[in-house]
Amino acid sequence: MNKTLDQNILAAINSVVGKGPVGLHEPTFAGNEWLNLKECLDSTFVSSVGKFVDRFEDDLATYTGAKHAVAVVNGTAALHIALLLAGVKPNEEVLVPTLTFVATANAVSYCGATPHFVDSEGTTLGISTAKLRDYLQVHTQQHSGQCVNKATGRVIRAIVPMHTYGHPADINGLLAVAHDFNIVMVEDAAESLGSTYYGQHTGTFGLIGTLSFNGNKTITTGGGGAILTNDSSIALRAKHITTTAKLPHAWEFIHDEIGYNNRLPNLNAALGCAQLEQLPVKLIAKRALFKRYKAVFAPVDGVNLVAEPAQCQSNYWLQTIILNSDHMHHRDTVLQTTNQAGFMTRPVWRLMHQLKPFTQCPRMDLSEAEQLSLRLINIPSSPSLLSIVE
Ligand SMILES: *Cc1c(COP(=O)(O)O)cnc(C)c1O
Repeated sequence: MNKTLDQNILAAINSVVGKGPVGLHEPTFAGNEWLNLKECLDSTFVSSVGKFVDRFEDDLATYTGAKHAVAVVNGTAALHIALLLAGVKPNEEVLVPTLTFVATANAVSYCGATPHFVDSEGTTLGISTAKLRDYLQVHTQQHSGQCVNKATGRVIRAIVPMHTYGHPADINGLLAVAHDFNIVMVEDAAESLGSTYYGQHTGTFGLIGTLSFNGNKTITTGGGGAILTNDSSIALRAKHITTTAKLPHAWEFIHDEIGYNNRLPNLNAALGCAQLEQLPVKLIAKRALFKRYKAVFAPVDGVNLVAEPAQCQSNYWLQTIILNSDHMHHRDTVLQTTNQAGFMTRPVWRLMHQLKPFTQCPRMDLSEAEQLSLRLINIPSSPSLLSIVE
């Protein structure tokens, strides 16, 4: 092949998804969505109470294997509440990958805490365990059972691994580091509904895990999120503070602390119940799409398709190509050529430590994430893309 890399990539995408324009990740509503929504409208239960909220929470717990699921308005709110319940307090620090969506770092800030950015690694696209352990060894000390950042004097309370594009991070390695340094783990599983690590669903390993059902995620409730936990008291607290901390009473309005209005409306939950029923089919379609891309990208020099890590099942939320290091200077040309041709492709999020609100935050050497951010490109990933072909 003597065409340029961007043309080869364009041809490969085109051969899989057909004619453009094609979005990055579009929702499909092929099940009971209309039926459930009609039931909401007919019953007038559209808002903060209704049977679909309870059912969605039960269905999520059953699907993920978590003891409890609490539905909330979006994934960002889920993270915020999860961090509060993990004990994150003002003037503490939380370890967050710099390679993530801004919600992870924002949620830490909502607690009055400071994100402390850590590096990623290339096989999982998640936090680099080895680098993290070495770093904590040198830069922290234990003070009455708490991990303290020597440079800032602040407690490092929690760590938030994120399962990038649906690929599970090195969970066992990270759990061991968290355990050894007395740090609580909260998993940002916003992108990994349907992804498992050694057969166990992501978001169920840490003290708390969070999901997102935004419109671009694997399943959607319009906007929505959930808090997963095996700890019954945390689940009760999560429900309580996301529903204005109101004490149950037939008519009195008594709130025993400052709560949040973060509950998921019944309308959105109705959508969620129908979407969750279709998740297995979507996962099959997404895996098939990965295989098709894998085949067409195999002969293209200079680029590889990101595959699920060993012992993991990825939901393949966003299909991702990774340019070889000696081809990363082509990234913007690839983005230009593919987007111009009507195939939506996107680079990774601007790294957190490079964003204005977070430039002053503590961080380790982030060179691997910086390299990855110049090499990763998401390509069209909708599960519906293959239905015509298969
Ligand atoms: C989508 C997402 C969230 C949550 O997003 P919401 O839009 O608030 O539901 C959080 N973290 C990551 C990594 C995400 O991709």
